[in-house]
Amino acid sequence: MAKRACVLCGEMAGSWSLCYITLCGTSQTLCEKCMRRYRDAAGEEKIALREYMARSPHLREGEEVRERLPQARVQWQRELEQAQERRQQEEQRQAQVKKTARCCGQDMTKLGVSTFQLGEHTFLGGDLDHLLSGSMKMAVFRCEVCGRLKFFDPEWVQ
Ligand SMILES: [Zn+2]
Ligand SMILES: [Zn+2]
Repeated sequence: MAKRACVLCGEMAGSWSLCYITLCGTSQTLCEKCMRRYRDAAGEEKIALREYMARSPHLREGEEVRERLPQARVQWQRELEQAQERRQQEEQRQAQVKKTARCCGQDMTKLGVSTFQLGEHTFLGGDLDHLLSGSMKMAVFRCEVCGRLKFFDPEWVQ
């Protein structure tokens, strides 16, 4: 049975347990353990792993990789920035939700997401008709002090 070295740890792995990833347009082999590590890595850690692979003695098609590496680095950097941007937006959104889901000076309790059946006459009025196909999902928050309920788009408060 064909065995190949893992590009990260150098351990030989049988073809039945090899995992493949693409690095700079080339196919590289990883053992299962390193594949999990690579899959779970994010952001700078993932880039560091790719850089490590590019220098690995077990790298295959090394010439291609080195040739494409500068361009790939630009792309990795861009991905990193985009991920940071998304994280910032997410934090802003969460802060906004926290601010909105308050009543009587305290945080409201999230009761969960409910599906509301909507009849011909909806209390939401006509503006939301494009959202409705008989039912609508809403995240419900309750104020423990005054009993007021607030409804949110569940995607907004997830
Ligand atoms: Zn490995
Ligand atoms: Zn209240």
